[in-house]
Amino acid sequence: MPATERLYYNDSHLIEFEARVVDVTERVSGWTAVVLDRTAFYPTGGGQPSDTGVLNGSRVVECIDDGDNGVLHVMQGATPARGEAVKGRIDWARRLDHLQQHTGQHILSQAFVKLFNAPTKSFRVLDQSCEIDVDLAHPSNEVIERAVELANNVIWEDRPITIRNVTKEEAAELPLRKETAREGELRLIEIDGFDLTPCGGTHAYRTGEIGIIAVRSWERAKGLVRIEFVAGGRALADYRKANKTAREIAALFSAGRDDAPHLAAQMLEENKELHRRVRMLEESAAVEEAERLFNEPSEREDGTRVIAKAFDGRDNDLLKKLAHALIAKPKTVALLGSRDGETARLVFARSQDAPGDMSSLMRDACALVEGRGGGKPEMAQGGGKKIEQLTEALTRAASSI
Ligand SMILES: [Zn+2]
Repeated sequence: MPATERLYYNDSHLIEFEARVVDVTERVSGWTAVVLDRTAFYPTGGGQPSDTGVLNGSRVVECIDDGDNGVLHVMQGATPARGEAVKGRIDWARRLDHLQQHTGQHILSQAFVKLFNAPTKSFRVLDQSCEIDVDLAHPSNEVIERAVELANNVIWEDRPITIRNVTKEEAAELPLRKETAREGELRLIEIDGFDLTPCGGTHAYRTGEIGIIAVRSWERAKGLVRIEFVAGGRALADYRKANKTAREIAALFSAGRDDAPHLAAQMLEENKELHRRVRMLEESAAVEEAERLFNEPSEREDGTRVIAKAFDGRDNDLLKKLAHALIAKPKTVALLGSRDGETARLVFARSQDAPGDMSSLMRDACALVEGRGGGKPEMAQGGGKKIEQLTEALTRAASSI
């Protein structure tokens, strides 16, 4: 099987090329893999996703590095035959994006080495952003932003980026950023006066082409620091998204974009205070309501008061507040229910000196409303979906005492 001459090694900006088909094989799912004598398509590898594009007008959906066997162009649609001459074109927008992320990574990784002696252990280009895992001892926003600052200065200095091929022995004498296990001749990528690294990927001609690098987030992961960043066009897309989000939040406060965090924090504080006041008001309302209910005629011969009542739209918390206020009175049983949306809610409680097992009453009531519940002899709660049985459940519970 013949190898493929890799045109992208010499020129990362070559978009169109001519080649000849040297092999065609059927792949799974009816896709076809085409091997060419030469190609500008970069295959997936080194953390950089593959190029896409067209060969004689048909889509190349992915390229796979098959080592000495060449580059496999996985195609959809009509495929050229063995021996046929083809015109290839790569999708430049995608290549430029990968080139910006990938070259940006070289610069950011070297910035961490220069400032903190912190090597990069792995790199990934994701759909929207990129990740590097850095062996950084004391990460903080300030530390990471210092590296970002240096990386952007190197970008704006618009330094040339060149390719050098050296032997393994020559490489051993050079200050390479990372080791390589590769045998034979090494391809080194040199960012003038800043970084020298063996790499087989596609890179910018000059650092200025990367435009900008920004860090989105970072976290500690498996003893390293995982840093999510975006470069070039992705940084602009991410800025637009972040700006839109920030402005939408600010619009809720009718405020300027940068005032929103302070106003949101203030609103949360006010909200907490309002919750506290609502709770207080609910409790005093429950005490007053309990007083009124207690004074309605409900006393039995033995002096026990059984107060059974169904409400609309009260949640468990409100029912419990009222129950607590009622059982603060002597010899009182509170059997409370609520039609709360689609749910029948029940809270049964009694004072210490009142009769009845609330837990067992609750089980019977819940069977009636087709739900679940339980608790202790003095206090139980539950609920179910048969709202129309709520009154019946309370009446039966009251008559069982
Ligand atoms: Zn590279």
